[in-house]
Amino acid sequence: MTTTNLAITGHFVAGVPLVPTHEEIIEVYSPLDGALIGAVPSASVGTIHQAVAAAQKAFQAWSKVPVKERVQVLFRFKSLLEKHIDELSRLIHLENGKTVAEGRAEIEKGIEVLEFATSLPQIWDQQNLEVSNGVSCQYERYPLGVVLSIVPFNFPAMVPMWTIPIAIGCGNAFVLKASEQVPMTAVRLGELLAEAGLPAGVYSVLHGRREVVEQLIDHPGIVAVSFVGSTKVAKAVYQRGTALGKRVLALGGAKNHLVVVPDADPEITAKNVVASAMGAAGQRCMAASVLIAVGDTQPIMDRIVEETRKITVGKDIGSVISHAAKARIEGYITRAEEAGYKILVDGRGATVAGKESGAYVGPTIIEGVLPGAECACDEIFGPVLSVIRTNTLDEAIAIENANPYGNAAAIYTTSGAVARYFSERANAGMVGVNIGVPVPREPFSFGGWNDSKFGHGDITGMDGVRFWTKLKKITTKWTAEAAKNWMS
Ligand code: NAD
Repeated sequence: MTTTNLAITGHFVAGVPLVPTHEEIIEVYSPLDGALIGAVPSASVGTIHQAVAAAQKAFQAWSKVPVKERVQVLFRFKSLLEKHIDELSRLIHLENGKTVAEGRAEIEKGIEVLEFATSLPQIWDQQNLEVSNGVSCQYERYPLGVVLSIVPFNFPAMVPMWTIPIAIGCGNAFVLKASEQVPMTAVRLGELLAEAGLPAGVYSVLHGRREVVEQLIDHPGIVAVSFVGSTKVAKAVYQRGTALGKRVLALGGAKNHLVVVPDADPEITAKNVVASAMGAAGQRCMAASVLIAVGDTQPIMDRIVEETRKITVGKDIGSVISHAAKARIEGYITRAEEAGYKILVDGRGATVAGKESGAYVGPTIIEGVLPGAECACDEIFGPVLSVIRTNTLDEAIAIENANPYGNAAAIYTTSGAVARYFSERANAGMVGVNIGVPVPREPFSFGGWNDSKFGHGDITGMDGVRFWTKLKKITTKWTAEAAKNWMS
């Protein structure tokens, strides 16, 4: 494909694609083989105004549709996602580089959030209480208005699906700022929502980078912002939005620690640790990044290395997102080697036959790392596991507790007491026991702690409902006197 015949995926505004001729074009490359696969326009101020105005108009009607009717669109959307799951999985594979199976898994996880949102009529606040004689109080839940969601590259469908169904089901009009690295899946979701009967303007997609994000946050028509991405940007988005008095929830990066103790089941532990660290080429905010091996765990470590070596790049794991990411990840491995750490399994220079221009990094294990080492502290966001050795579980917990992030932490043990001891002390919002990617399943909510999240509450589950709505409290006095003194 040349730049002259690029297939441009437009913004999705007022229910239709929009490709303004004057906007800068962002090219999209597949990290699988480096091919130019498309392009998107970068939203100008005019396009942002147009999208927000269309969303504001749509909100007027959509917010008044009863929640029981709004979720009917979500039921139809679910059927369409299931019908198109192969096509969507391949699109995610193409633009993100993960395997088709991983693309499918993220759609299935997104569908779980959608299923939760279809239960909104059952969980909508219905409390009505007589608070004193003849006086009752009741809650009424209202949508916020036009809301913004800014999403990262690593889950083109699942992360948008954390917010779309709940925010829309609650009656908001929703603007998604897609990742410029994987912009096409977000637009395809819009087409399917339209097919499901969602009124035009309730879901919009805008493309672009930092400037577009900032203009959207600053837009007076945007009343709430959710963000998922790196910690540096999450913090900036949180500060910018809250300074304007907007409701903001910003999820950031992670450095997840897994602790293995000697009584862990070698087979289960090895398979699970490797799946956590290397799956999706390590580009998950819940991926294992540091393994703390407590005491004599050598037989388990040997199994972990064996499992890691079984992974075929290009088959079991896909590419990383770009050549820039590959260079950054390989830089971490090289500097760890230069610092004297042993590279037990080395994924640098990985290639896939026939896809020599792809951005591949193989599974990597760095052994004997000291707490405080660069590879033990920074979010590498690639298939790289740094192994720290400690003598005691308390030392391991202290290392986990000292890391500034707090998305996930996990323990591998066959002892219930050890599992409980660790779970109570881990400094993370999501804890796994013999589970390396402890993503809570619906209706439990998703959200980390510390530098992995800025703002209050989690992004899914009931916290999602709370984030995307506001409560009105109505106090009513019914007395015979009031009936006589009409409107007094
Ligand atoms: P990123 O922070 O670079 O980008 C995220 C979004 O912000 C994109 O839409 C991008 O266009 C926009 N953006 C980039 N720089 C910006 C800036 N300076 N100002 C305003 N907007 C900006 O993240 P990424 O590289 O796309 O995604 C990977 C990161 O996301 C990792 O750190 C990963 O841990 C994190 N992540 C976190 C979670 C979670 O639940 N906590 C989930 C998925 C990904």
